[in-house]
Amino acid sequence: MKHDKMKFETKVIHAGIEPDPSTGAIMTPIFQTSTYVQEEPGKHKGFEYARTQNPTRKVLETNLAALEGGADAVCFGSGLAAMDAILKLLSPGDEIIATNDLYGGSYRIIVRIYQKFGIKAHFINMEDTELVEKTINDNTKLIWIETPTNPMLKIIDIEKLCSIAKKHNILSCVDNTFASPYLQQPISLGADLVLHSATKYLGGHSDVVLGAVICSTKELAEQLHFIQNASGAVNGPFDCFLVLRGIKTLHVRVKQACKNARKIAKFLKKHPKVSKVYFPGLKDHPGHDIAKKQMKYFGAMLSFDLKADNYESAKAVLSNTKLFSLAESLGGVESLIGHPASMTHASIPREERMKVGLTDSLIRLSVGIEDADDLIQDLAEALDKV
Ligand SMILES: *Cc1c(COP(=O)(O)O)cnc(C)c1O
Repeated sequence: MKHDKMKFETKVIHAGIEPDPSTGAIMTPIFQTSTYVQEEPGKHKGFEYARTQNPTRKVLETNLAALEGGADAVCFGSGLAAMDAILKLLSPGDEIIATNDLYGGSYRIIVRIYQKFGIKAHFINMEDTELVEKTINDNTKLIWIETPTNPMLKIIDIEKLCSIAKKHNILSCVDNTFASPYLQQPISLGADLVLHSATKYLGGHSDVVLGAVICSTKELAEQLHFIQNASGAVNGPFDCFLVLRGIKTLHVRVKQACKNARKIAKFLKKHPKVSKVYFPGLKDHPGHDIAKKQMKYFGAMLSFDLKADNYESAKAVLSNTKLFSLAESLGGVESLIGHPASMTHASIPREERMKVGLTDSLIRLSVGIEDADDLIQDLAEALDKV
């Protein structure tokens, strides 16, 4: 069966994955090799040196391309290494437009690394699509979309922004880490590139760091394969194996986590000590309708703020949950609780943070696949300590 004819639930298990022809092993082998023997100079089986190609990585890249509906994919040592490769498509003088509520590391690589190479960035509220169009000038070469955003869970209209990018001949990239391809497939909405930190939902078990770019065209994939080989931020074959294994249950995990998150959001919304709940599944969320249009479910990430809006109150919650572990990262089977201001978003200046509502009392949850009522009880007990 051709990949594009398969349903998503079949693709995660079968797309690009064949039993090993030499042994029949049903699981993709970990090709732990640095080089490949050639029959005569230049005559080989498509693999020459493991920075350039690795069979385990190739299977993962084929599978990811199928899941996102892309022409090809390229895997890297981390999500940020994948982003680094995309930024290397740009030249000095080029400009990026990105959301002002961005993953902290994505903000850091643009501002602290690429700015000094002459690349300029505008961080704006991308919910306002007119503002995006107004910010475009002749130097704009990349529109960087992240949705749902982190940690404010804003929803950005992918289809609208990608069509604006196309009209102006600008490359568009969507960081799809928070949604996963099960919930949202940006290429089908017009994106040129999709970025993943596979460390999160794709891997799904908090045991691997890996990144990927899925490309809408073969040409873009060739450029990124060139950068991958030239710059060398590849990941090892064991990491590819772990992500391939994680992906097989992606739909089951994400569906359960989304269900739990929805229940938790409703609980928090009614809680007397909570002032705000940021979750696109709530009807009064400003991006609810767009989320409904572009996502299958509303995701399993949510943030909330406390009526007692100071760091001490947040700390009381953060240090008293027993099931929610206090840690960075997201997308694993276990639930995590985090404090964006001091953890994931510490690299963003305080005045920038406050502008988008990222206060000192904001708490972020990555909801896992435990029992929802147990998770709610855990939060209730921690909130009692405020
Ligand atoms: C984690 C994350 C990244 C960076 O990925 P790494 O694998 O940690 O390098 C990028 N974007 C988002 C939205 C993330 O959550």
